[in-house]
Amino acid sequence: MTATTTTTGPEPSASPDLSKPVGDPPLLEVRNLTVTYGGTVPAVRGVDLRVEAGQKLGIAGESGCGKSTLALALLRLLPATAKLTGEILLDGEDVLTMKWGRLRAVRWAGASIVFQGAMHSLNAVHRVGDQIAEPILLHNAKATPAAARRRAGELLEQVGLPAARAQAYPHELSGGQRQRVMIAMALACDPRLIIADEPTTALDVMIQAQILRLIEQLVADQDVGLIMISHDLAVLADTCDRLSVMYAGRVVEEGPARQVYAEARHPYGRALSAAFPRIGDPASRRAPRGLPGDPPDPAALPGGCTFHPRCPVALDSCATEDQELREAGGERRAACVLVDTPATDDSRNTA
Ligand code: ADP
Ligand code: MG
Repeated sequence: MTATTTTTGPEPSASPDLSKPVGDPPLLEVRNLTVTYGGTVPAVRGVDLRVEAGQKLGIAGESGCGKSTLALALLRLLPATAKLTGEILLDGEDVLTMKWGRLRAVRWAGASIVFQGAMHSLNAVHRVGDQIAEPILLHNAKATPAAARRRAGELLEQVGLPAARAQAYPHELSGGQRQRVMIAMALACDPRLIIADEPTTALDVMIQAQILRLIEQLVADQDVGLIMISHDLAVLADTCDRLSVMYAGRVVEEGPARQVYAEARHPYGRALSAAFPRIGDPASRRAPRGLPGDPPDPAALPGGCTFHPRCPVALDSCATEDQELREAGGERRAACVLVDTPATDDSRNTA
């Protein structure tokens, strides 16, 4: 079923439909999702994703590729100018056609988001413990303020902070501590899926490593699903099981994380991998190499394969022929015409 919906405004019936379809659907299955801003800016174009409980999916891509738009779309948190089509099946239930009341129940408890730059958006005038307690009180009519505060303390301990830090104001915490608070908040209603949008981008490398290990530990302990978004393919390869690489609003490559990082089949995947080498990885002996140019403006996408103007191995036909994701060996898929060409051309490995 395909749905078209805007993202704001209560729907007429607010009664939550708690019935579940029979069978055993994946935790999250996204089918052919598109997001268009203002009718003219296709920021996400036909994305398919799948996440099982306990699985960690990384979404990689440069700034402007549509990663945050995709993350926000999953819980219909985009502005009303954004039009969504496709299916977002959370435990088999389509988020795009959910009634408003059900959607409110699903946010935080079904899936929760650590927003990009979220650690800067804690409310400066409230203690962090109260901010963690807020979604608990909103989502559980039986929770008392005292119980919610107690739970906030437990959550802080779970993310490696003393429960007493609940009394702190955001300015009394370091960047890494504030990001831990954001993760505690995301865990507050025991979600089954956590979406973390660039959770470590603003942190120095030591703290980044600590936060990544914390997220990994929480996913392992609680058997939740994780979608982690980053421009840094090396970080995702270290943390995630599977990777989807986005370019100009589309997934152009997907597969097991380490395989995609070590030998991407799409020239864009290879360029991202070369730009973010991993310490201790054989590929890191090469100096990091940037990719010239920028991703295209979604309002003015180039014809053919959208990557062709920056592609070091583009064929003439790439300027006119768009490419779909196709089997690319092992469990990988890539949207590149060269995937079908026998790998005898050395130039394919120079991206
Ligand atoms: P990423 O997270 O990968 O950096 P975004 O999802 O933030 O990418 O942005 C994807 C594209 O959508 C960009 O071209 C951006 O300018 C555009 N965009 C993002 N938010 C809006 C909005 N509210 N209105 C119009 N365009 C937007
Ligand atoms: Mg973003």
